[in-house]
Amino acid sequence: MGLTTALLLQQSGVNVTIYAKDRPNEARSAYATGVWSPDSRICSEEGATPAFAALWEKMCRDSFRKYQTLLGVAGTPVEWRDRYSVSSIPFEELKKKREAEEGPYKFGKFGDLVKNLTPGAEELAPGTHPFGVPYVRRATSMVFNIASFQRILMQDFLAEGGRMVRKEFNTAADFATLPEKTIVHATGYGARALLGDESVIPVRGQLALLIPQPEVNYSLSGEDVSMVSRSDGIVVQTSKPTDFNNTDEIPNRADSEAGVQALAKIMVPLWRAI
Ligand SMILES: Cc1cc2nc3c(=O)[nH]c(=O)nc-3n(C[C@H](O)[C@H](O)[C@H](O)COP(=O)(O)OP(=O)(O)OC[C@H]3O[C@@H](n4cnc5c(N)ncnc54)[C@H](O)[C@@H]3O)c2cc1C
Repeated sequence: MGLTTALLLQQSGVNVTIYAKDRPNEARSAYATGVWSPDSRICSEEGATPAFAALWEKMCRDSFRKYQTLLGVAGTPVEWRDRYSVSSIPFEELKKKREAEEGPYKFGKFGDLVKNLTPGAEELAPGTHPFGVPYVRRATSMVFNIASFQRILMQDFLAEGGRMVRKEFNTAADFATLPEKTIVHATGYGARALLGDESVIPVRGQLALLIPQPEVNYSLSGEDVSMVSRSDGIVVQTSKPTDFNNTDEIPNRADSEAGVQALAKIMVPLWRAI
């Protein structure tokens, strides 16, 4: 968010210095799965007011348009990929199951406002796909190759005369030590420790990164696992109801292995699927 905001400020003619304790490739953003999921857990159901929905839709459409300008750029920062949704139960049932698993915390959902931005999904009948489950849908989704995306943003920022200074802020009073008169605060999850802002809530679980397989040129989302194949590796992710507000950042090999095993169950050998 900080780097993107800096670029937008530069485009408006402002000189920008970024102060951050981590470089982009060390920041939390470097660990994102990398899918275009603009309304995913962005706010609580109570926060989803009509005014916020309208603002969200505008921001979503603006950023969508902007990301299209990065298609075909060397390093493939942004691309469109097939995404298969697979399930052992009908998708309507799966949706209800997921909603029930959200627990007492309900998220605002805005996807219907921008349905016309992306191609719709098509159902694939059994026998027309190689997956070991009866319900399969194929859609096309936008994916970010995070390493390359971050580098391009960084190069653009430096080319516009930007400066990045490594600096850690320990309290809000440290902001006053900066020579600049205007500050955009974008410490993300770091705002919890820095400002005691507990409204920033961790919502994601463990990721496993498998070595890249360029021939796997699609993404997949199952009942208990999702997979995004990027040029820097295959991201395998499990989701659990306990992910919400789980501040534990220690990698858990068992979770990662469970994700890979769940994926393996879906990927039946082709000779069995035919
Ligand atoms: C496992 C996982 C998967 C995800 N997948 C997706 C996805 O597929 N799609 C999607 O849209 N989103 C995804 N997200 C969410 C997304 O990654 C985050 O919302 C986003 O990266 C946050 O970016 P940010 O710039 O706000 O924060 P950060 O990337 O955390 O950047 C914060 C910056 O502030 C600096 N900073 C923090 N505290 C201080 C301090 N005290 N002093 C100085 N500097 C400080 C840091 O060094 C860093 O440079 C995922 C998140 C996780 C954890």
